[in-house]
Amino acid sequence: MKTYNIAALAGDGIGPEVMREAIKVLRATEKRFQFKLNITDAPVGWAGIDFAKKALPDVTLDICKKSDSILFGSVGLPDRDPTIPKEERPERAALLRLRKEFGLFANLRPVKLPKILSHACPLAKERQGDGIDILVVRELTGGMYFGQPKKTEDLGGGNFRAIDTMVYTTPEIERIAHVAFKAAQLRRKKLTSIDKANVLENGILWREVVTRVGKNYPDVALDHMFVDNGAMQLMLKPTQFDVMLCENMFGDILSDEAAALGGSLGMLPSASLGATNGNQTFGFYEPAGGTAPDIAGKDLANPIAQILSAALMLRHSFGLNDAAAAIESAVQHAIESGHRTGDIYSAHEAGAKRIGTRAMGDAIAAVV
Ligand code: NAD
Repeated sequence: MKTYNIAALAGDGIGPEVMREAIKVLRATEKRFQFKLNITDAPVGWAGIDFAKKALPDVTLDICKKSDSILFGSVGLPDRDPTIPKEERPERAALLRLRKEFGLFANLRPVKLPKILSHACPLAKERQGDGIDILVVRELTGGMYFGQPKKTEDLGGGNFRAIDTMVYTTPEIERIAHVAFKAAQLRRKKLTSIDKANVLENGILWREVVTRVGKNYPDVALDHMFVDNGAMQLMLKPTQFDVMLCENMFGDILSDEAAALGGSLGMLPSASLGATNGNQTFGFYEPAGGTAPDIAGKDLANPIAQILSAALMLRHSFGLNDAAAAIESAVQHAIESGHRTGDIYSAHEAGAKRIGTRAMGDAIAAVV
């Protein structure tokens, strides 16, 4: 039986509560689909600082290096020790360090709003069609956030000049485009590439390279959209999108805009992918939200984002597409049969029952 090694880094706040439910669901999948998951827990964030005075203890990093993928909760507690230097704070010392260490270059953020949760979406019902289902694929290591030169020059007289540089090379665009086309093949086979080819040199190269890569995926329909129009279309007609492919900064902005359509942070998973080795891809999977200190330890958190992150891991790291789909449809089933944590509950919704973190995990695991 094939075995996969997973590092489970629950972190702080609601992290341990939602991680526990994700592992429960993974165990149910393991039984049904006949594979073995070797899951090793390791401390990170404030839990790491308490354990070894470091947000990313050496033992945790070591476990991650020996694993095939990382399932991550979230880190950071804003009210704990404001005197700690910012480079030692969990968000930087753990998260950014892990992203760098494992060369994670592709960020996948699916947003799915089932029709039955239309009340949780800020858009008018008629704009939601039969439900919103978008995957934003964002390049994570290039573009303006990392391009050199990047500096602020003192011009004298109290004036400064700040410089950021947008840089992309052909191979960087090719590898993220392949990720996006492959993801589209597993979905509705439509890819919208976002750029600013009317103004930016980077946009022109981006469009050329994506178009060329697209020739390898004749089953995927490709179109291009300027980023300003893309931002507007997300609000006007989000149902037109399947996969949106973006460079780093455009993806940062559009993935948060798209996330707002999903109703609750508690529903949104994410995947960050690194290198592929044979038929496995190293990945880092985490909910889009943070540690939610306001509801931590109260059995109030929605575990669905963490559970769907585990499903993304099965699909994108291990190619276990049936097991991933089983988790996703179990989530759908739990929602359709009225299970609601507080963040997606409305007293006006007939048949909805308000339940806790643990009961939501139980309901989903039972369906799997
Ligand atoms: P947050 O995402 O933790 O919470 C924002 C709001 O969303 C809160 O009201 C919270 O209760 C709600 N929420 C989030 N996840 C939920 C869930 N699963 N179920 C129900 N409700 C949920 O953002 P914040 O309050 O700005 O940040 C808290 C801490 O988390 C900070 O220290 C921040 O730096 C950290 N953070 C970490 C990550 C990460 O580890 N990747 C990401 C974002 C924020």
